[in-house]
Parts: sequence; C-alpha cells; structure tokens
Amino acid sequence: MKKITIAIDGFSSTGKSTVAKQLADYLGYIYVDTGAMYRAVTLYALQNKFLSEDEFDKKSLIKSLPTIELEFRKENDNANAEIFLNGKNVEKEIRTMYVSGFVSPVATIPEVRKKLVAIQHQMGVEKGIVMDGRDIGSVVFPNAELKIFMNANAEVRATRRYEELLAKGDNVTFLAILENVQKRDLMDTTREDSPLVKAENAIEIDNSELNQEDQFTIILQLAKDRIAGRV
Ligand code: C5P
Repeated sequence: MKKITIAIDGFSSTGKSTVAKQLADYLGYIYVDTGAMYRAVTLYALQNKFLSEDEFDKKSLIKSLPTIELEFRKENDNANAEIFLNGKNVEKEIRTMYVSGFVSPVATIPEVRKKLVAIQHQMGVEKGIVMDGRDIGSVVFPNAELKIFMNANAEVRATRRYEELLAKGDNVTFLAILENVQKRDLMDTTREDSPLVKAENAIEIDNSELNQEDQFTIILQLAKDRIAGRV
C-alpha cells in the first residue's frame, strides 16, 4: 500500500500528539513528536546553565549543538517512543512546566532549528510517518500528502493541559498554564524563523468542541483518502 507523509501542526496543547499517535498506531506508521526535540534541547541548555530566568547565553548553546545527541527509543513494540538526550531518557523531565516556560525562546534560534529539521528530514525519507509540531507542513515536509492545522480556544487548551498535569501529580495552577499557553502561542507565531502558520493546503480543524474519537475519525478518513489516491 502507498505510504504517505502526514504533517500535524498547530497551537500548544491542541491535542496534536494524541491524535498523531493514534493515527500512526492505526496505520503502522512512525510517529515523531518534534516538540519533544525542542524541549530536550531546552533541558540541555538549562542543565548546562546557558539558560535561566535572568539570562540566555545563546552563543554557548549554539557552540554545544554538535554535542547534543537526540534519539527516540521504544521499550517494546507496543510502548510509546520516548526521547533520549545524550543517552538518557528525559521524557518526563521535558514535560514539566519549568521546561515549558523556556522552550519557545530556544525554538527561535535558527541554528537549533536547522539541526532539528535535518534530523526530522532524515526520519521521514521513507514516508510512512506522522510528525507533529509547528513547522512540519510549512518547512520540514512542505510536500506532505496530508497537512492538518489544529486549533482550539486558549481556555479549552489550558484546561486540558491543567487536567493532564494534575493527573501526573504536578503542582500547577490553571492561570500559570493559561499564561504559558498564550505566551508560547505569541512567540511561536511571531518568531522570524519558521513561525507557526497554517501551511499551504493544510486542513484546519478546530477541536474546541470535538471529542478525541470524532477528531480521530475525521483525520483518519482524510488520510485514507490520500493513501487510496482519492484526493
Ligand atoms: O509541541 P510542544 O508544545 O511540546 O512544543 C514545545 C515548543 O517547541 C513549542 O511551543 C514551540 O516553541 C517549539 N516547537 C517548534 N517547532 C516544532 C515543534 C515545537 O518551534 N516543530
């Protein structure tokens, strides 16, 4: 069967990764969460003290980029892929509010983007991939057969994130999350290099009032149409 490339972009906490994972599982495709890659580079910058509340030593981070190794590994066939930073599993650490607070400034750095986009290209050369992020349909795979642009209103997104973090036992407030979501939206859409935009030919889905199952059904049908060459 023909394999395609599926690019899922959109605002923070729109549920991109949930639907991307479901789709990849169903189709037997590889799933790549590019946000995890930007988060891992951010964690590296924090660990190495290039980045703090007061300053951001971009030069040192850029100089260190060749020493940053990122890899997705699966414990077994049924497990989700988890991200490893220089050989260490950092999947949990990169999801904290602390890292979320610093990731968008790191993602503005063209050298960081260049490195991560090169890795992403490599992962997608054989197609059969579902990749989610902010610039997948516009920059990484502009020729993707299916491009989805996901949106939902900010309060709905912050509520979903809040419930997710509470369930994990994180000590967070709804307001702090709403603020983080809005700040990231602004930085992601206004940065110079690869801003978050709806890519040409992307299909926009506002899921403020859609449940996960309906959303999956809609996107799966779009994918099936393209795999079968109906579109
Ligand atoms: O998808 P997630 O919310 O985990 O992404 C974290 C941050 O990484 C985003 O807010 C954005 O700043 C950055 N990002 C990006 N380009 C991507 C994926 C994520 O700039 N393709």
